[in-house]
Amino acid sequence: MSIAAMSIAGGMLLATSVPALAVNATDTEVRASVYAPAQDVVSQRSQSLEVSAEATLEPIDVGEWDVEAAPPPIESSVAGVGEVSLLETPRIVWPVDPSRISDGFGPRSAPCAGCSSVHDGIDFNPGAGAPIVSLADGVVITATEAGGGLGAYVEVQHNIDGVLITSLYAHMQYGSISVSTGQRVSAGDLIGAVGSTGQSTGAHLHLEMYGADGVRFDGLSWLQANVTG
Ligand SMILES: [Zn+2]
Repeated sequence: MSIAAMSIAGGMLLATSVPALAVNATDTEVRASVYAPAQDVVSQRSQSLEVSAEATLEPIDVGEWDVEAAPPPIESSVAGVGEVSLLETPRIVWPVDPSRISDGFGPRSAPCAGCSSVHDGIDFNPGAGAPIVSLADGVVITATEAGGGLGAYVEVQHNIDGVLITSLYAHMQYGSISVSTGQRVSAGDLIGAVGSTGQSTGAHLHLEMYGADGVRFDGLSWLQANVTG
C-alpha cells in the first residue's frame, strides 16, 4: 500500500481593511465624502492529510456480500530483474486504434520474401508514429531495438484472470520505446510508437499474444472478447 494523501480545499483567510471615514459627523460644512479605496485580501491555502501505510483499517461489514479471497499473484522471472509478481488485472484496452487491420492471425500468403506464411500475430495500421499502449497492467519483460525481424519491440507479461498472458508489440520506431525491462505498466500506458523496423513492409503494429506455453493465439478475437474500455 502506498501512502495516500488527501488534499482538501482548506481554510479561507479573509482580511478586510475598513475604509476610514473621512467626514467627521460634527462637521458643519457640506463637503464630499471621501473614503479610502476598499481593499479586500483573500488568501487560500490547502490542507493536506497524510495517511501512513501503517494506518489500521476498520473491519468492513461483509455480511451482505459474498467474499472471495483474492487469487495469489503469478510469480514470473524477468531476466536481469529476478522474480516479479504479476497482480491480477481487470482492465483491458486496445493497444492502438483497432479500426484498420491489414492482416489477421493464421495462414496467409507470405507478404515478402522470407516472411512467414503463417501469421502469428495481428497487424494494425493506425499510421506511422501512432502511440502504442500496454493492453493490460503488467511487467515489461523485453524492451529492445535489436529484435531482428521484430525490429524494435516490447513484451509485457500480464496476469489476466489468474492466467499468465504475454503481449508482444513489434516493428516500433527506433527511439520510441518508452519503457524498460522490469518496469511495471498499467493498461493504457504508452510503451512506444508504430514504425516499420525489422522485417516489415510498412508502418504497422504487429501484435502477438501467447500464454505460458508460448503458443501464439489469435489476439484479435481475444481483444474483441476482453477489451473493457
Ligand atoms: Zn504481423
